[in-house]
Order: sequence, then structure tokens, then C-alpha cells
Amino acid sequence: MDALLAFEEQSFPRQPTLLFQLFQSVVLCLIIELDSYLYHTIHTETTNLCVLRYYKMMMKRTNEFVVVPQSEQDEGLLRRLLDASAALWNEINYERRQNYADPDADVWEISEYRGRYGGILGASTVQQIERKNREAWKSFFSLKEKGEANGKPGYWGNENDGRELRTYIRNTSYTVEWGEYSRLEILVGQDLKDEYGLGYRERLRLEVRGESNWKQYDKQGRLELFYDEQSGQFRAFQPVTIDNSRLAQPLASEEAALDIGANNLVACTTTTGQQYLYEGRDLFERFRETTREIARLQSLLEDGRDSSKRVRRLYRQRARRRDHAQDALARDLIERLYDEGVSTVYVGNLTDVLDTHWSVETNAKTHNFWAFRAFVKRLSCTAEEYGMSVEVRSEAWTSQECPQCGSPDRTTRHQDTLTCQCGFEGHADLVASETFLKRQTDVARPMARPVCLKWDDHRWSESPRSHRPNEEHTNPHALR
Ligand SMILES: [Zn+2]
Repeated sequence: MDALLAFEEQSFPRQPTLLFQLFQSVVLCLIIELDSYLYHTIHTETTNLCVLRYYKMMMKRTNEFVVVPQSEQDEGLLRRLLDASAALWNEINYERRQNYADPDADVWEISEYRGRYGGILGASTVQQIERKNREAWKSFFSLKEKGEANGKPGYWGNENDGRELRTYIRNTSYTVEWGEYSRLEILVGQDLKDEYGLGYRERLRLEVRGESNWKQYDKQGRLELFYDEQSGQFRAFQPVTIDNSRLAQPLASEEAALDIGANNLVACTTTTGQQYLYEGRDLFERFRETTREIARLQSLLEDGRDSSKRVRRLYRQRARRRDHAQDALARDLIERLYDEGVSTVYVGNLTDVLDTHWSVETNAKTHNFWAFRAFVKRLSCTAEEYGMSVEVRSEAWTSQECPQCGSPDRTTRHQDTLTCQCGFEGHADLVASETFLKRQTDVARPMARPVCLKWDDHRWSESPRSHRPNEEHTNPHALR
């Protein structure tokens, strides 16, 4: 853990060095150990909020599908299996309830059920049902501690009215084959096999219907198999663990850098020489209008009240509009970058940019507007689908550096245009993203004409005119 804490964002090796690989495996172990699969943030003590972010390498997902027995005989067998599982659950649960009521008994100490149920269910399924019941009781006790318990674990129906047909099958006791004719094979006890004429090593084979989202996975978990009264179907939940690398692979190992702002939401430069500019003026203006309206309404509220229905609605509306545009932006951008063969995306830290050339008030508003962390998370999740990674880097110095002569103090920014005493003139945000990218990697290729994108409340689309500040006196190389 100490070793992990010693890392800082800035010192994070970009290429998979030995150290990085070692680090990855530590992270991997941690993730498996903690059973958590979202990215984590570790705060270091040495730097304020300097943070180490790493991306999930293993994801947990669940396949849900319909299971169809291939004959009446098979259906009979399956029903027997699920019914016996429910009977076992009920017996275990009854014993635990008795123990719970008895001050001298221990809830966790229960009889051995393998002898009576092993022949029907198979030893591993007996064990899974016991475990599932234990989990239910554990959860009951922890809720009870918090004062939120909602009754002791219940029964899966009863013998007279019919039991709930359900079972849990250990990860090694079933197989799913995905293909044109997908199928599930589950382990059943020897007695049931004898009764239904299955061979000694045979498993019950069932047809799988419907498309599954995750056909390729590294690990499968405990299968839940049940009869759904509502649809009259047998259904299954199969938890799976997927290694990120199984998702789409980047087409090449190009890189991209993003500059984030308010007037231009995102300016992006890639190592393939592409530039993208997402215009945000209208979006930002509307956000500010709503913010002003919220402030106005709040000032009209009676003393002691800090919100009203209308204010809350405006807040929600404001956030929804922003989220919608951000989601769409993340997807539009990541898809473009994927097509360019980008594998790594660097994002400048918003605070760095804000502090340099905007007022405190604007900074605060922009911060609020961007919900920067949420945006980076969106971007990362979308990138993940394409096997790309997103890294947050500091870019404090890039905004005003001249890309032509490298001078940080001979430049002037007027609105979107950055000019330098050396004669350079270009789009400030695009220049910033280009300089930012140069600091992360080698940019050898010349820049193409930038692609400008506008938001129309539904989608981002290429604006017919290329964005050229001060058109009349812009030299041909200004946008480079
Ligand atoms: Zn210059």
C-alpha cells in the first residue's frame, strides 16, 4: 500500500515499464481482493489532492438468459432439481430460525445436509444453497445492526402451496457454450441421473435462448437458475468477470490531448494531426441563464427557506441538459478518436486552465458547469468500451505558450485567438491542446484543418464553417 501511495499522477509511467506492470498486478490483486471493479482514487498525503487514478481492469457483468429443457423428461428433471433446492433452503432456513430463537444455539451451526440432498442436487449445489442461506442471514444481521432489518430470511414457498423453483450452481459445476445453438450444461446428483437415465459423467443439457451481452469472459460466477412464474420460463443469471482487454482494441497506439473550457468545451489534438473543437458558447450561456434564474427565484423566497419546487426543477433541468450534451460529446469524441487509432487520451486538469485566464466568478461557474470529475468519468467509461485509456495530467503552463517560438510570455489572448510577437496567430484552445499533447508525446505530423462541432440539443455535428478567429487577418498557418 505504501508503494502505491508513493505514486503521483505526474510520475505515472506512460509506457508499460516493468514497474508499471508490477503495479498493474498489485492493482489487479487489490481489485480482486476487494471485489470492487470501479476505478479508485487514492489521496496522497504529500500532495494536496494529487491523486492517483487507475482504471478498472476487471469488470463484473451479468448475463441473463432463458433456458429451455429439450424434452418433457428434461423439464421434469429440472423441476425436481429446483424443487429439491427449495426444499433444502427451507430446511436450512428453518433450522437457522430455530437456532436464532434459542439463546443457547448458534445460528451458524447447522446439520449436515449433503447426505440427504447430495444424491439429488450433487454435493456442490448443496454447498451453494447453504452458502446462499448463510449470506442471507449475514445480511440480515448487518441490517439489524443498522436498525434497518426487514424480518428474518424467508422461505422459498412451502410444500402445500408449492415451492419457489430456484437453485444456485457453483461456477465449476456448469458450462455455457455460446454459439448458433447456445447451451447450458449443469451438474445434477447421481440419484437423479439414474432416475432419468443420464450417464455417470453426463450433465443436464438445456438450450439457451436469447442474445447474451458478454459471451467472452475470464471467469464465471455462481449461476442462479429459477422458474419465472410471470413469463412461464426458466431463466438464468450468470455473473461474469471480463478483462478490459477483451473489449475493443485500439486500432493503433496514437495519442490525443484535450483542452477543456467553457466557450469551447473541448479542444482536441491527436498525434495523427487531427484537431477537433466542440463549441460550447450557446450551451454555456443557457446554463448561466438558468443559474441566474435560480438565483433570482431564491432571492424571492421567504426567510429560512432555501429552495422551492420551481428552483429544484430548474436545477434538475440544468443538470440534465448538461449531462445530455456531455454524454453525447464523450461518445462523439471517443468514436472519432477510435477511428484515428488513438489508444491514450490525456485530459488537462481543469483548475489549471481556469486559474490562468479567467475571473474567479467565471471559474466557479465553469467548474459548476463542467462537473469535471463526472465528465472525466463519462469519458473514461466510453473510452473503456474501445479499449482506450484516459489520463488526467497537469497542463498549467500550456495555455499561453506560443507553439511557434515556445515563448510563454510574448503571447496575448483575445477571446479565442492567441497571438504572439513572433507573428504566430491561432485558435487559443486548439493551440493549448496541441502544446499539451507535445508535452506528453512526440507530435510529428502537421495539423489538418480542424473539425468544428456544434450541439443542437440532440447531437454534435460538424459545423459547415471552419472556426477561424479574425478571419480577415489570419495567416494560412494560423490554425495549422
Ligand atoms: Zn511566438
